[in-house]
Amino acid sequence: MSSENPTAPADAALRRAAKPTIVYPASTMPRPDMAVLEAARHTMVKIHEVVVPPRNARAFRLSRGQFFRIVSIEGPQVGDLNLWNADDLSERFFSGKTRALHATHVGAGDRLWSTMPYVRPMVTISHDTLGWYGWDSDGAGIHDVIGTRCDPYTNLLLSGTGYDFCCHSNLSRALAAELKVEPCGVEHHIHDVLNVFMCTGFTKDTHQYFMKASPVRPGDFIEFFAEIDLLGALSACPGGDCSATHSSDVAACYPLKVEIFEPDRTTLGTWTWPSPSEYHRRHGTPA
Ligand SMILES: [Zn+2]
Repeated sequence: MSSENPTAPADAALRRAAKPTIVYPASTMPRPDMAVLEAARHTMVKIHEVVVPPRNARAFRLSRGQFFRIVSIEGPQVGDLNLWNADDLSERFFSGKTRALHATHVGAGDRLWSTMPYVRPMVTISHDTLGWYGWDSDGAGIHDVIGTRCDPYTNLLLSGTGYDFCCHSNLSRALAAELKVEPCGVEHHIHDVLNVFMCTGFTKDTHQYFMKASPVRPGDFIEFFAEIDLLGALSACPGGDCSATHSSDVAACYPLKVEIFEPDRTTLGTWTWPSPSEYHRRHGTPA
């Protein structure tokens, strides 16, 4: 913000003293039955895996009821995740609403929600080996839904140079390969991501988005339960562990692995599969 702020009104202190209210209290949120997921995940067997090379991305598909893990292998590495309804790319992960419903960073028990007019959980986070991290003394946490994704347009704007292996481009190439089209024909489907394993926050003085070295180590994983049939894409960010730089070939980068699991379906017998929102969509016009 500008340092030349207008003169404060006489009741400025009183206005600032208004009590914060949680916009979406946890008590109003439908909660997933984690005991059912815990029982299911103990029966699951791996049926597929995809290795995402550094500074690149790969697409993957799974059915509702399956689980997938994003696994750190070889070295600390941040991943940028996109999710779509496998049958309708217009339903995709809604980072902003997920942030509003849960928090700036997500973990086990939280859900990744889809865009309007669907607004339903696409996945529930069923396990997170970095759940111990919590909030550090800088106010940072893991797995953020506040960043967008590194991209060549912002890079050109800020540095004047072109770089082709930002997460936006990686995800565009992966989706294009999956759909057998050119990247420029699908990049409008790429959306704000879940920053997997990324350690971020806002500075306390200027409230600027910051990143610091990810605490992820090989063997760590975050695991998701698919609530609908999914098409996913994961980029191994050119920022590596995002300790210093991104959008270049400077940082040390490592692959990530996506593992897909099938549980014993009888353990999910009581699970309620989410339907698209039942809002009538008249938006105030006559019925
Ligand atoms: Zn990136």
